[in-house]
Amino acid sequence: MNRAADPGELDADTLLDCCRYLSAVVVAVVREDGRLLDCNTGFRRLLRARIDAESEMVASFFFRPAFGTLAAEPPLGEQPIYRGMLIVGDNQVVCHSLLGVVHRLGDKLVLFAEFDIAELENLNQQVLQFNEQLIEMQRQLARRERRLRASEERLRQLSNTDPLTGLANRRHLEQFMRMAAGRTDRLGETFSIIMLDIDHFKRINDVHGHDAGDVVLCHLAGLLGATIRGIDLAARVGGEEFVLVLPATGLKVALECAERLREAVARNRPPGLDGDISASFGVVQHRPGDGAADLLKHADEAMYIAKNSGRNRVVAYAGPSLDLAPPDEFR
Ligand code: GH3
Ligand code: MG
Ligand code: MG
Repeated sequence: MNRAADPGELDADTLLDCCRYLSAVVVAVVREDGRLLDCNTGFRRLLRARIDAESEMVASFFFRPAFGTLAAEPPLGEQPIYRGMLIVGDNQVVCHSLLGVVHRLGDKLVLFAEFDIAELENLNQQVLQFNEQLIEMQRQLARRERRLRASEERLRQLSNTDPLTGLANRRHLEQFMRMAAGRTDRLGETFSIIMLDIDHFKRINDVHGHDAGDVVLCHLAGLLGATIRGIDLAARVGGEEFVLVLPATGLKVALECAERLREAVARNRPPGLDGDISASFGVVQHRPGDGAADLLKHADEAMYIAKNSGRNRVVAYAGPSLDLAPPDEFR
């Protein structure tokens, strides 16, 4: 290591060692002919990795004012030989303006400088702008995410919904019944289903037209929706065929519910129709081991008994080996 000639003078290497690991302060020890002898972290950071090979140091970066000019300056005691803007860079990429001083210490020149404050502020400004852009992008991303979730939810609803009446479709119904059967298995909670079919619906279409038939279907869907509880499900499973699922409901209550509905259908004339309508009902309570298909089949069987015994009535499914005639109180 080169040391200052006079031991009383400031030592360039010691000075550099004090600032060795500072990165916001730039310190370099330069020989009079301009060759870089040593530098601290700040200087390395300034010129990136281009100063590692000593032989290339002088060639690869320039310095203004030039070292030759400064080296010629006579020493001014402890005063710096230069104070002001220092420009350091290489010819390819890096060029930095620094505010600093150059001291002559023995046969060396020592450069002290700070990173350009204006450039730092500029960088800070850019960071702030990037942050704002980032926040805006995150907001947009969140908005798109919400729109995507809403579209997914809409799609899910569409895939579960009958487009004419807005009630659940068969797919949703079967899913719902599987869930209800699962609760029965886990909690022992029973449930019942009601199947209903509009009586002589074909006549309505034939006499009043298909559109009037559609109005009747929507009218009936409205009646069902208004009658069921929040936990129940109303589904349209065929042209003029509907199913209600009543969780936590035994056969007796389900029959009462079906009867109330039967009366409501008969009492409420659909808009635009000059006659009343009626429907036939089949009711069944879930039994352990019954799948969705079993329940629908049993409800269908009960409903067709209602049709065959005069329509406009409620029939409970009584099991394969029993007499399936409707109970008197629900005729
Ligand atoms: P029943 O009392 O035995 O049930 O007789 P029905 O006339 O109600 O039953 P049928 O099965 O003979 O006729 C059902 C009719 O429902 C036939 C079909 O054209 C009609 N239909 C099916 N889907 C729709 C629909 O979406 N809109 C309309 N308007 N009519 C439909
Ligand atoms: Mg019918
Ligand atoms: Mg039918």
